[in-house]
Amino acid sequence: MNDSEALPWLAPTWQQLSHRWEQLPHGLLITGPPAVGKSALALDLARLLLCHQPEQKGGCRQCAACQLFDSSIHPDFHVLAPETLSAPDSSSLYKHAQRYWTSKKSSAARKPSQVIGVDAIRTLAETLTSTATQNGRKLSVIANAEDLNHNAGNALLKLLEEPTPDTHLVLVSAQPYLLPATIRSRCIRLDCTAPTTQQTLDWLCTRHNIDLDFHNGMTKSGLGPLELERVITEGRMQALTGLVSPSGAGGNALASPQEFVSTCAELGLKRALTVVQNLALMELRWHAQKGALQSAPATRFRFANRDMAMKTFYDIGRILRHPAGTVDEQLFLEDIFADLQGQQIL
Ligand SMILES: [Zn+2]
Repeated sequence: MNDSEALPWLAPTWQQLSHRWEQLPHGLLITGPPAVGKSALALDLARLLLCHQPEQKGGCRQCAACQLFDSSIHPDFHVLAPETLSAPDSSSLYKHAQRYWTSKKSSAARKPSQVIGVDAIRTLAETLTSTATQNGRKLSVIANAEDLNHNAGNALLKLLEEPTPDTHLVLVSAQPYLLPATIRSRCIRLDCTAPTTQQTLDWLCTRHNIDLDFHNGMTKSGLGPLELERVITEGRMQALTGLVSPSGAGGNALASPQEFVSTCAELGLKRALTVVQNLALMELRWHAQKGALQSAPATRFRFANRDMAMKTFYDIGRILRHPAGTVDEQLFLEDIFADLQGQQIL
């Protein structure tokens, strides 16, 4: 069984991929919204390509290659990802990626790198020039490919332009527009099907007990199904609903910047910013269509006007791309709150 089979909305994309796996191009770019399982798909593809007795439905999970793969020690499979890749993201991917992190100069005090640097690509290039040890194919998955820094991007371009035989580079990215056009143009692009809200809800309900508040919050959060599942397993559902529920309903408006900051911290900063950014996007959509609609979206925040929603949307977009530590996160959140204050639904 493939890992991605647990994510039913990926079935059409897997079918598309597995149908032609024997003619897989040298460069493949898997795109799609965040947290829908793109990496699981890339791993399933890698297992299939490296398997000794492959079937169209996937790797056999029995042969020596599959066993090496599932133990994260297959010598012809390489994963590059920024060190900030969150561990539970997909632990198999994380374990594979660690091989390329430990070779770096490390110090206990060093912060995990948020980019994929040129050293990792150079090491990969050296490794790929050597002969494959198993069934002849070599494969590399580059997760969060948008985090390649400039030099790493150039080095990868060279790898894409001068392919070594039987080698496949699979780039995975939720933000492919951040990749250089030269890289994109050398890859065949495959878009992952995103689940509908109902599919996400059905999937979560079969795996967890979720209440109506979370259901309502979930639909406005803009988070992908895997991220929502992490919110549930980490016990942060209340923080999520606190951020997105209309304050009028529970009478518990986020009364102060401190409460806003602590709710964001409870949910996780990056996640909270993604949610607030989605609320701003909902508001922008409402402004664009308000002739046709009766009322504004029922979210905790009501932006003063379209420009304010736009500003918040872009400010958050910028900080989500900004290396952490260079911005005072608390000040940034208080700033956002100041933009919102007085405009909450009461
Ligand atoms: Zn196998």
